[in-house]
Amino acid sequence: MQRSTKIVATLGPASNDQAILERLIAAGVNVVRLNFSHGAAQDHINRAAVVRDVAAKLGVPVAIMVDLQGPKIRVGKFEKSKITLNNGDRFTLDANCELGTQERVGLDYKELPSDVGPGNMLLLDDGRLVLEVLSVNGPEIHTVVRVGGVLSNNKGINRQGGGLSAPALTAKDMEDIKVAAQLEADYVAVSFPKSGADMYMARTLLKAAGGKGLLLAKVERAEAIVNLEEVIEASDGIMVARGDLAVEVGDAAVPALQKRMIRLARDKNKLTITATQMMESMITSPVPTRAEVSDVANAVLDGTDAVMLSAETAAGKYPVETVEAMARVCLEAEKSSDYVLDRDFLQREFTRVDQSIAMATLFTASHLKVKAIAALTQTGSTALWMSRLNCGAPIYALTPELTAYRRMALFRDVFPTHMPYHAKHSDELIQEAELELLRQGLVMPGDLVVMTVGDIVGQVGHTNTMKIIKIGERR
Ligand code: PGA
Ligand code: MN
Repeated sequence: MQRSTKIVATLGPASNDQAILERLIAAGVNVVRLNFSHGAAQDHINRAAVVRDVAAKLGVPVAIMVDLQGPKIRVGKFEKSKITLNNGDRFTLDANCELGTQERVGLDYKELPSDVGPGNMLLLDDGRLVLEVLSVNGPEIHTVVRVGGVLSNNKGINRQGGGLSAPALTAKDMEDIKVAAQLEADYVAVSFPKSGADMYMARTLLKAAGGKGLLLAKVERAEAIVNLEEVIEASDGIMVARGDLAVEVGDAAVPALQKRMIRLARDKNKLTITATQMMESMITSPVPTRAEVSDVANAVLDGTDAVMLSAETAAGKYPVETVEAMARVCLEAEKSSDYVLDRDFLQREFTRVDQSIAMATLFTASHLKVKAIAALTQTGSTALWMSRLNCGAPIYALTPELTAYRRMALFRDVFPTHMPYHAKHSDELIQEAELELLRQGLVMPGDLVVMTVGDIVGQVGHTNTMKIIKIGERR
């Protein structure tokens, strides 16, 4: 059984080891996330090289995603690395404080005091602690603890309702974009964008650094929800970044937003990743909870391209078991007939020739009940368009380009093959593709397959032909 929904796994201390990485990829990881909130650039460059080696050794496509840190606002460090705050305690966030105590702690974002005012609710450590602002005095934010708990070094701060002024790209992110280009990241995820303009800026910087990766917007700020359409349009895909998003908009709003975001992104031919706490209990337990199983399955039914693991694979006790469990849940959910997306091709708007071929192929595939779709593609665009509507047939994407081969690892329903093209004409190329599919055992003689190809072999954006072939039949 082929799994259509893809798995993103974050690397960290629990998964840096080459042997573990091999087991993770063998268990079904399609995209590896390098979290630039932790670690030095050189460590990420080294890790990326190991990922590429392992993927080549196992002969599977694996994409690398660089996740920029962004302007995550954090408290500083404490003298004794952590404190315990009780409800009703007074506590001060002080931009000038060096080392935290029971009364105060420093801030990495020095402008925070001018961004907040009395009555604001500040949520710390993904909302585990809540502080209400009483007053602001120069660099000091005086608060009263509404929900207490343990507060340790460098925990994040969000304001309920959003609206902090921090720009999406910090000086560190700008440097890290160059690192992403250097390690040939297939995806670059921008943290905390507020608008389409933030994404254009990231794109400009990535291009200037020579990066070819696709750009993902992590939707995790209240403003990004207000500007959702333009954020999606300015990106190649989005991450439903439920960790920070839940803090900003309230956790109860997130499930419906997840559905809306996935539907809207697919409508606009964009990719989606559903992230955070999907298998949280497996950080310490070898089996998921019923709620986690339902959460992963529901994301699959919502139509997400991929489900993501964070601490489960980065720092958990059972990284491989988590990927295995997730893969199993996805496969089962994909069998459900409740997974229906907009199949009304007539409502789709497109003006390009290659896109018209993609839509015609989908229409044909779903009516003829073909075994598979095969796309001969240079950039993966044709495969992407076809994968935005679920026609029930797998999409085998054969490309001579390594960039396309790896990036398509994230696309739902798409199974990439790296295949150098020898043919000069599209008819010969179709034969090469047919032989490759047979060789891999993906099709059998007699199967019907719809293929897309360009009659100028090797040119980008020139898909202009759809051909229906019966495998093994002489032509
Ligand atoms: P993070 O992003 O893990 O980098 O915070 C994901 C999220 O906020 O859900
Ligand atoms: Mn986040």
